[in-house]
Amino acid sequence: MGKLILLPGKERSAMKRHPWLFAGSVGRLEGRARPGDTVEVLADDLRPLGRAAYSPRSQIRARFWTFDPAEAVDDAFFKRRIAAAVARRAALPELRGQQGIRLIHAESDGLPGIIADRYGDTVVVQLTSAGADKWRAAIIAGLLKATGCVRIYERSDSEVRGLEGLEAVTGWLHGTAPSQAPAIVENDVQLAVDIVGGHKTGFYLDQRDNRALLGQLAAGRDVLNCFCYTGGFSLQALAGGAASVLSIDSSGPALVQAQANLALNSRLPAARAEWLEADVFAALRDFRKAGRRFDLVVLDPPKFAPSAAHADRAARAYKDINLLGFRLLRPGGLLMTYSCSGGVGIELFQKIVAGAALDAGRDARIVRRLAGAADHPVALNFPEGEYLKGLLVQVD
Ligand code: SAH
Repeated sequence: MGKLILLPGKERSAMKRHPWLFAGSVGRLEGRARPGDTVEVLADDLRPLGRAAYSPRSQIRARFWTFDPAEAVDDAFFKRRIAAAVARRAALPELRGQQGIRLIHAESDGLPGIIADRYGDTVVVQLTSAGADKWRAAIIAGLLKATGCVRIYERSDSEVRGLEGLEAVTGWLHGTAPSQAPAIVENDVQLAVDIVGGHKTGFYLDQRDNRALLGQLAAGRDVLNCFCYTGGFSLQALAGGAASVLSIDSSGPALVQAQANLALNSRLPAARAEWLEADVFAALRDFRKAGRRFDLVVLDPPKFAPSAAHADRAARAYKDINLLGFRLLRPGGLLMTYSCSGGVGIELFQKIVAGAALDAGRDARIVRRLAGAADHPVALNFPEGEYLKGLLVQVD
């Protein structure tokens, strides 16, 4: 096994069990290691710190698999870690029996670079690091054993693989394509999930609780759902008794899926739903000019800032849509607003939303702070895992 020896003083983050080792912390590699190989990590004084996956092309030069220098990283390791991640969710009553659930949340489950989402009897995996890529077979075996699922599909086509020098990989790893897209029931609403062509692994499971909250708030209100994707928030609003729900997305296929999802739920009042294929920024400006107003506006945009380096440009985009959102609210209305940018922390996000309210001339207060669901935990040693943050704001 190659040995990765850190520069003096650079063992500090590993001592706090942070799973990433940046290129600037690494002194030298002794022995040989190819991308994804497991290396021993040692402090400058040769104190062993643990074992990590080596990734020579990435700025994140290594990701710790274990902080126990004696723990073997082998098939049994992945079996144990995957079983532990699945058991962690089974121990939380709110997650028990969920048909759509994130089973492995990468670093926060001690499995850097590995995402696994379950939709019914199908699991979709996404491998985003060189180390995860190398252990594909062990990961599949661990998932089959821990879940009893009948199909595993790989969606390793996230752009972050490029940073690790990895090509996109997609396809069935176990079992064959089902005759119908997998469907889940979330908060009593049926949703079909396009695991092959949809975004990420097919669905944004992290917003499950927030969609339920929208259902509780929607009764009698005119709801505007911006960045609706396949209609998760829209359908919850209809189920919650919204007077009307206007949903906007720039993706035609997402809107087709959204309407198909609505059709799966025959008890929902389809006549109250309106779908608009448009750029949210432009559409909201048009509504403002036309004097159209709403009681509840949801803003769940894509990641504007993948990293802190993009925070400035992202801040302007967040400010812009939140400003437009505030302007479209009737008195007493609610703004449910999110950022899933890792590069924009909750403090900065709150500042942006406050600035938007000020510029819109609206007095407003935060009535709830919102986050991802419990199957997207944030390991305390990995604060970067807290990417999704939201605010529920009530205007005067
Ligand atoms: N709220 C959704 C997830 C939103 S993901 C859910 O609960 O499932 C972000 C969505 O924004 C994607 O569907 C993407 O197609 C859409 N999008 C990205 N940029 C956009 C833009 N400028 N205008 C409208 N939609 C956009």
